[in-house]
Amino acid sequence: MKVVIAGLGVAGSYLLRRLGMAGFDVTGYDPKPGNYYIPCGYAANFSLLSGMLKNIGIDAEKYVLSRAEEVVICGEQTREITFKSSGLCTVDKNVLERDMIEGTRHENKIAPRDSGDVLIDATGISRYYLRPARQDFTMYTREFITSGTGHRDYYFRYFPDGMGYYWEFPLGSKFHVGAGSSDLTYLDRSLSGITGERKVGRKIRLMPLFGEAISNGVIGVGEAIGTVSPITGEGIVPSMKSAEILFRCISSTSDLNDLKRKYVGELRKEFSAYSKLFTLLTNFRSGRKGLTNARYARTAIRDLRHFGIDLRLGRILGSFL
Ligand SMILES: Cc1cc2nc3c(=O)[nH]c(=O)nc-3n(C[C@H](O)[C@H](O)[C@H](O)COP(=O)(O)OP(=O)(O)OC[C@H]3O[C@@H](n4cnc5c(N)ncnc54)[C@H](O)[C@@H]3O)c2cc1C
Repeated sequence: MKVVIAGLGVAGSYLLRRLGMAGFDVTGYDPKPGNYYIPCGYAANFSLLSGMLKNIGIDAEKYVLSRAEEVVICGEQTREITFKSSGLCTVDKNVLERDMIEGTRHENKIAPRDSGDVLIDATGISRYYLRPARQDFTMYTREFITSGTGHRDYYFRYFPDGMGYYWEFPLGSKFHVGAGSSDLTYLDRSLSGITGERKVGRKIRLMPLFGEAISNGVIGVGEAIGTVSPITGEGIVPSMKSAEILFRCISSTSDLNDLKRKYVGELRKEFSAYSKLFTLLTNFRSGRKGLTNARYARTAIRDLRHFGIDLRLGRILGSFL
């Protein structure tokens, strides 16, 4: 089976290396120039990231820029609550992506459409080959690299009503300071006065699109199919995870229909929490309160722990007493 991967972000690069190491006939394509800077906070749970990277013979330790000791979370109107880290760190994602494709077959251009038996769309927000989804949900983001911030450690400040959040993530001697929101007023207000050596932005997809992971014979992976947490924007480890699932499906069958069926089934199982969290997000945004939200609270706590934040309900309740 000849495999073509379009897009060499974390998902495409991981899959390219993983398939290549297993002896598949695979080529990756990405037109971005070397050192092109794609906006991302670079935060990940070290132990989950390092587990993924072991599969492709890469030591995650080499990419760590900072490790969280404590993580501060608050709302615009609520006081700061400090949690312990359960592995949150920042990694040099651009260098990691460069290293992941080293020694693989790849070309610095847009993927030709009909050059393989399987075309994989790992083009992130653009879904260049899958084409737009029938329904989608994205937020605007803007991010700076700065030399200082108001906080020492990892900091999240949530906007009201599911409108996004502002973050500060240490990067060794520098910081990523950014915000994501569906409303540009929140971005402007939260980032006013911030300056830095670099300012970037793009949209982020927060809606799982597993029902549209395959279209016109193209198979999607990573943010192209919504492997991003709807409540934290975490997409690095989840996008690699979707690539690992696709790798296993490709390895287990040469029947394309069987492969696609298995892949979508596995995606839905692995990322079932994201469907719940997307409902939670839309409930918040439309002012819907009630039992459903309470039911999803445990899923939300698990998701924050997955990101590397040792979120404790007791700490949250305690802060209101
Ligand atoms: C501001 C911001 C901050 C974030 N912070 C975090 C964070 O701290 N932690 C975290 O876990 N996640 C974070 N995320 C999310 C995370 O960055 C992404 O979800 C994840 O990197 C998606 O990986 P991907 O490989 O699917 O897509 P991408 O990384 O977007 O890669 C897509 C690639 O496709 C290429 N491409 C596009 N069109 C074509 C084409 N036609 N042919 C070939 N190639 C093409 C692009 O050049 C790009 O290299 C953040 C996102 C944003 C926007």
